[in-house]
Amino acid sequence: MAKQNYHVILFPFPAHGHITPHLALQARLHQYHPNLTITLVSTPRNIASIRSSLPPTSPLQLHSLPFCPADYGLLSDSESTEDLPSGQFGTFLFALESVCPAFDHFITETSKQSSVCIISDMLLGWTLDVAHKHHAFHSSFMGTSAFGGAVFLSVMMNLPHNHSDSDPLTLPEYPGVLVPRSQLAAHILTASQTDPSTVLTQKLLSTLYKTDALLVNTTEYLDPIGICMLKKTHNLPVIPIGPLVGSSYSSIPTSERESNIFEWLDLHPGASVLYISFGSQDSIQKSQMMELALGLEASGRPFIWVIRPPLGYNAKDEFKDEWLPDGFEKRMKEENRGFFVHGWAPQIAILSHKSIGAFLSHCGWNSVLESLNSGVPIIGWPLQAEQPFNVTLLVDLGVCVEVARGKLETSEVKKGKVADTIEVVMGDNEKGQDMREKANKISEMMKETWKGESCSSAKGLAELLKLIKRVTNN
Ligand code: UDP
Repeated sequence: MAKQNYHVILFPFPAHGHITPHLALQARLHQYHPNLTITLVSTPRNIASIRSSLPPTSPLQLHSLPFCPADYGLLSDSESTEDLPSGQFGTFLFALESVCPAFDHFITETSKQSSVCIISDMLLGWTLDVAHKHHAFHSSFMGTSAFGGAVFLSVMMNLPHNHSDSDPLTLPEYPGVLVPRSQLAAHILTASQTDPSTVLTQKLLSTLYKTDALLVNTTEYLDPIGICMLKKTHNLPVIPIGPLVGSSYSSIPTSERESNIFEWLDLHPGASVLYISFGSQDSIQKSQMMELALGLEASGRPFIWVIRPPLGYNAKDEFKDEWLPDGFEKRMKEENRGFFVHGWAPQIAILSHKSIGAFLSHCGWNSVLESLNSGVPIIGWPLQAEQPFNVTLLVDLGVCVEVARGKLETSEVKKGKVADTIEVVMGDNEKGQDMREKANKISEMMKETWKGESCSSAKGLAELLKLIKRVTNN
């Protein structure tokens, strides 16, 4: 007999860029459906940092799943992709499956009281088996754009790509979409169908074709082609429930100096400062950092740069002067032109400051949504995964210019192009003006998406609730 109370279990992939939109989804679910019980599950360290960031009045419940990364040869504190040295992502995916018994136990207990709805990250496909076992509703959460996610999925499910010389690649599911090979990360270009982590990734992603509903952190006016693409290839409800822009939680404390960012920003005129960040876990080559720095200097514009150690260094390494051109940081500080963050930046607040005029970004989807939500145009430097396809979408929307692509030694970055692109996007010219207008328009539309009961994303949540009731009552 179906139970009348519903318990939503959110299970994000343990990485900042995945946890943040799940938290934003929880906030929207509680706003529009206050009677739902919602629990977010994750590994112990992630649960502890989320707990410390929640307001005391938050109705969100948290549940910790025991996790022993050391059993898989990972460092014992590797509970998030931010902690991983490069090359260990595949091992981390395998290790995460080890929380399955604890997750299963939690669902067993929860199902005794309520009808359960699991909303799990697209990279946690094994949760579907647990849902089936307990006759629970299951939906996969795609935290990418629909366009980026659809292209990425097609690329990943049609491996290998090293068998032909055709450039661009054509995608069997989407004949109209051409993918230049230069948009694919090296490990995808060389991946074989027998490589264990590729096999696992394909298995996890195949859940996206079998789940009860596919939730996508996007919206019709931003991403109409991508939504159509997913609807064409996925014979199940595809529900845009975005844009979900959170009040970003931080697992890394912001230092006192970094909290002076806003005083520094206040000193600059409106839309004059460039913000630069490559997300919560990625980085570029030292040689690329050098060229970027020289381009910034040549541009003459003020900037905030969130500097993570370049590739090849440990993510937790202290900043080293040798990563930047001689005397660069000192010169930029003396001229009051550069603010350097060697750690964690309060990104959402920075992007909403009136002095920010553009965002040089790796185009992770959260960064994109946060930028557009604040009406800030983007200078794209995609590094991996679906990021290059996000750039294609953004360029089509008229809010982005690509400045560089990739993080290999061979991925070319030229200081002249950096300076010229900054000038195009931030300068007083027709293209820059047009990009700013379009970004502002999108910002207005994004705010409309969540206004009132009949707004489009609230309708998406209502559709989800209806499906949960239908599936769990059968
Ligand atoms: N972020 C932040 N401060 C930082 C770096 C990242 O607040 O110094 C946040 C950013 O606001 C965004 C998330 O981390 O919400 C990054 O997600 P995104 O999808 O852009 O990229 P990822 O890190 O997953 O590659």
